[in-house]
Amino acid sequence: MKKLERKVALITGGNSGIGLATAKQFVAEGAYVYITGRRQVELDAAVEAIGKNVTAVQSDVSNLADLDRLFATIKQEQGHLDIIFANAGGGQIAPLGAITEEHFDKTFNINVKGLLFTVQKALPLLPEGASIVLNASTASVKGTPAFSVYSATKAAVRSFARNWTLDLKERKIRVNAISPGVVPTPGYNLIGLSDEQVQAFVDSQASTIPLGRVGTPDEIAKAVVFLASDDSSFVNGIELFVDGGMAQI
Ligand code: NAD
Repeated sequence: MKKLERKVALITGGNSGIGLATAKQFVAEGAYVYITGRRQVELDAAVEAIGKNVTAVQSDVSNLADLDRLFATIKQEQGHLDIIFANAGGGQIAPLGAITEEHFDKTFNINVKGLLFTVQKALPLLPEGASIVLNASTASVKGTPAFSVYSATKAAVRSFARNWTLDLKERKIRVNAISPGVVPTPGYNLIGLSDEQVQAFVDSQASTIPLGRVGTPDEIAKAVVFLASDDSSFVNGIELFVDGGMAQI
């Protein structure tokens, strides 16, 4: 028996990095997966890479009309949704003193507002026992130079997991956060650093991680499968760090 047999799952931002790796593992574990992203070309490539049991819906998480369209599609095609991996997100560097309103709004609109309304608008589709996994970050509990706005969004995400566990208590819906450490993905090229700067950052981080290396999207995906599946049936409201020990010491 596979871990997610007959489950219907949504992964926002499922066309790249951690989301794409998770979509592949969800399908391998027997789920039918909906992925979202903003660009159709990248969604089409992801659908091809995942291979089967996947539908892509072009949808910007920070746009509430897009979310309505997304859930109308899932409702019409499946009637319900068992698993949400609210994963879409990202951030750019901006030190205090150089933070613009646009930088603040963009980061919070995707990472906080988008994640909140993804979950809220999905609620009518969730059966008892559904599992919600929120992608936070070790940045929820650690400081990073010039990354305060991103980090604040991830602290908010961690808080959502704690609070929504209570709001969804009567429906026996579990809500957990996953907090990846340093995991190089295409997202690193969007932070606002050159390729050389990204590599220097990754190398410098590796030496601070107890396991002596950075992580891979597949290693995060395995932990998301755990939180999404009945293997974690008594795990609720936690922040699961998958960081090689970086934020634990
Ligand atoms: P990535 O850039 O490869 O993937 C981000 C995904 O989010 C992409 O599919 C992108 O299309 C999607 N996305 C971004 N904005 C969107 C929007 N407005 N609407 C819909 N989709 C949108 O990066 P990743 O590293 O795989 O990041 C995935 C998540 O993991 C993010 O929430 C990120 O903050 C979190 N995270 C990543 C790391 C890491 O080291 N890679 C560490 C901690 C947390």
